[in-house]
Amino acid sequence: MDCLFCKLVKGEIPATILYQDDDVIAFEDIMPQAPTHFLVIPKRHISTLNDLTDDDSPIVGKLPIVAAKIAKEKGISDAGYRVTMNCNEMGGQTVYHIHMHVLGGRAMTWPPG
Ligand code: 5GP
Ligand code: ZN
Repeated sequence: MDCLFCKLVKGEIPATILYQDDDVIAFEDIMPQAPTHFLVIPKRHISTLNDLTDDDSPIVGKLPIVAAKIAKEKGISDAGYRVTMNCNEMGGQTVYHIHMHVLGGRAMTWPPG
């Protein structure tokens, strides 16, 4: 399977890794849309949010926990930040391996575009 983020997990493409354990990995987004912009993903390939099953709960449940830990380390917790997961084309998904975006360091607007 030709998945960019699976390659990143395997170390086949470089990334600035912020955190990893057996289940998840977090790394800096290559095209940051805010002063802080990192991604948290499950190491196991899951294409979209639509593909999640109940069995994925433990791993996917770790994503916001890791996101919040890193946000704290980066000093953006108190000011606040945005967490986003895009699903399929109309949701703006471009990489088909689920990922949680964490954006901070500037004021976010609502609704998102
Ligand atoms: P999506 O549009 O699917 O919600 O988000 C995909 C994200 O992955 C984008 O923010 C994009 O900048 C980021 N991205 C795409 N290719 C790479 C890459 O090779 N390395 C890293 N670190 N981020 C990437
Ligand atoms: Zn993948």
